[in-house]
Amino acid sequence: MSSLAQLSPRAFADHLRALGLDRAYVVTGADGRLHLSDPALAELQEHLHGSPDYHRHEGIFIEVGPETGALFGAFVHDTRRGQGQGGLRYWPYPTLGAFLSDGLRLAQGMTRKNALAGLWWGGAKGIIARDPAHRADDPGHRAALYREYAAFVTSLGGCYITAEDAGTGPSDMAQVFSATRFVTCIPPAFGGSGNPSPATARGVVCAMEGALDHRGEGPLAGKRIVMQGTGNVAAAMIGELFDRGVAHVLASEIDPNRRAELLARFAGAPLEIRLSPPGDASILAEPCDILAPNALGGILSPATIPTIQAPIICGAANNQLLDERRDADALRARGILYVPDFLANRMGIVSCANEQYGVVQGDPAIQRHLGRTWENSVYLTTRRTLELAEREGITTAAAAIHLADQLAAEPHPIWGHRGRAIIDTLVDQRWHRAR
Ligand code: NAD
Repeated sequence: MSSLAQLSPRAFADHLRALGLDRAYVVTGADGRLHLSDPALAELQEHLHGSPDYHRHEGIFIEVGPETGALFGAFVHDTRRGQGQGGLRYWPYPTLGAFLSDGLRLAQGMTRKNALAGLWWGGAKGIIARDPAHRADDPGHRAALYREYAAFVTSLGGCYITAEDAGTGPSDMAQVFSATRFVTCIPPAFGGSGNPSPATARGVVCAMEGALDHRGEGPLAGKRIVMQGTGNVAAAMIGELFDRGVAHVLASEIDPNRRAELLARFAGAPLEIRLSPPGDASILAEPCDILAPNALGGILSPATIPTIQAPIICGAANNQLLDERRDADALRARGILYVPDFLANRMGIVSCANEQYGVVQGDPAIQRHLGRTWENSVYLTTRRTLELAEREGITTAAAAIHLADQLAAEPHPIWGHRGRAIIDTLVDQRWHRAR
């Protein structure tokens, strides 16, 4: 790793300022070559070139917050299908290298999630590096941070459309909305779509049905489901599963209050919730028909995969595989059918992405994802992915990526590859010197 990449995000921000810079970009030209905003940052370009997470991302934009001094990133991966859309993560990173890797990886993940969902959006991701020296719970600091970030998004001319993600909440999104139009996932008070968890839960349940049908295991009725976590998505999922007649749900939860709340909500239903310390993954080893990871990412790993007794894994958590390739291979080798998370949990981003098209009762643009006739529905996409994996002898993750990458290559039917034109404009207008 280059020495620049080993700096903390704060130290890199200071480095930029010492060079007289408050913005930087690395853009991939149509010829595949990297173009840098300033030759003084050549090391940054070399780092990206050597990074396993860089996959011809169209543009990586970096800014130092004018007042807060925080490091902002906008990672635009692929805009052929539409403007790059993806959430804004407010997260601490030990190094610039970790900040860049996360942004690059998550942006590519959004290209795939959006494309596989049949949305006319490209993929991107935003990051505010959380500085340990700043109090994340100070409302004044947060408001300044998110307004600055929104101004940064505005400056990018719409090649990146931001949204809520880990570490960012509804009040932060209200701040973002106050300073940019290039945002979705805003609070309902401003016309946003509100809590996406019920829709996410319904989508995951459709994916479960697709997986059961693929295996010829019949409907959810009578099945035993095990899940990790009983948060917002899981609670809605439990309701959906009982509506479909599942025989038993066993869940783990680290928060005793949450456990008590859900047991009261589902009193009389065949629901068991085990209180477990964080770091205890023993719930994954419980026998069941479907295992639903609904809490944390990275829980499918060499430590847990050998213990799993479920024939199917299908849950809401993002990035369930600790290592995308290795752990997908390990699951396949054990004959466990893994429904890729970005296929099953799409409905959060679908709700957000659709919110600017207005409010319709029983919205058909949402319902078609949850039905069985639209070719891009969760159910049919799940079936198609699992069939492809079986036919080609590849992992389900590889099959989903293959289908997603095919869709991602389709240009937007009206606007074409406009994100690229926006990025070219930023470069031509010397965005990096415009503040
Ligand atoms: P949440 O914070 O409401 O729920 C997570 C729950 O898991 C909490 O109750 C928490 O106490 C519990 N938990 C944490 N660590 C645990 C552990 N080790 N063992 C057992 N329980 C644990 O989050 P959510 O909105 O329900 O989302 C759940 C997952 O789904 C996350 O990974 C999220 O990124 C992903 N996701 C959510 C949406 C959505 O619409 N909310 C959309 C896509 C993906």
